[in-house]
Amino acid sequence: MLVSSPVTTTGGLFILSAPSGGGKTSLSRALIPYLAQHNAPAEISVSYTTRAPRPGEEQGVHYHFVDVPTFRAMADAGEFLEHAEVFGRHYGTGRQRTDALLTAGLDVILDIDWQGARQVRQQHPEVTSIFILPPSAAELERRLRGRGQDSDDVIAARMAAARAEMSHHDEYDFVVINEDFDRAVAELAAVLLARRLRAPRQRATRAALIADLLASPRHIG
Ligand code: 5GP
Repeated sequence: MLVSSPVTTTGGLFILSAPSGGGKTSLSRALIPYLAQHNAPAEISVSYTTRAPRPGEEQGVHYHFVDVPTFRAMADAGEFLEHAEVFGRHYGTGRQRTDALLTAGLDVILDIDWQGARQVRQQHPEVTSIFILPPSAAELERRLRGRGQDSDDVIAARMAAARAEMSHHDEYDFVVINEDFDRAVAELAAVLLARRLRAPRQRATRAALIADLLASPRHIG
């Protein structure tokens, strides 16, 4: 007998968090085509931010870049699913677009920090959260130095900020270590793919198949 449970035909909601230097942006961008190949369409939510675009970043693609009054007005109007201040700038996830994607059956990935993750968990207890860690402190420092000319003080401050972010890894459902890029992409995908196979979702999306499999035989022999 089937145990009755809440049925959803919507996509799954996922949170990806990492310290800067964790490789989250490249991983999440590689994840989408990987999932598409596995018949699991997913989208990364485009956040709103009050920080300035970096070279190569496009309006509406990497972020919706808005000024502080616009951000505050949106927050006051309840237009954010979550919002937080990170490194002195405002960041927020638009509620309407996220809901529309979920209703359309897509998996939605939120690339947000631990503060936002806490807010999303309160509103969506079913959310699946993944924390990405770098393979070592030395590698993290190497990534944070990048090709830049930053002083040791600046690097030390970035390392401290990364440690503060990483201290929240234990609030997450899954931890992926970004040592080998391709393996990390496959591990992230494994979490998303497994979520799609959960029984309540299968019962909802494959209802006709399951009904057919359980129906009395139409003919025997
Ligand atoms: P960046 O400015 O380097 O793109 O992002 C800085 C940090 O802000 C990252 O940890 C990123 O995950 C976080 N972030 C980006 N968008 C959002 C958002 O919409 N909400 C929250 N809470 N954090 C965000």
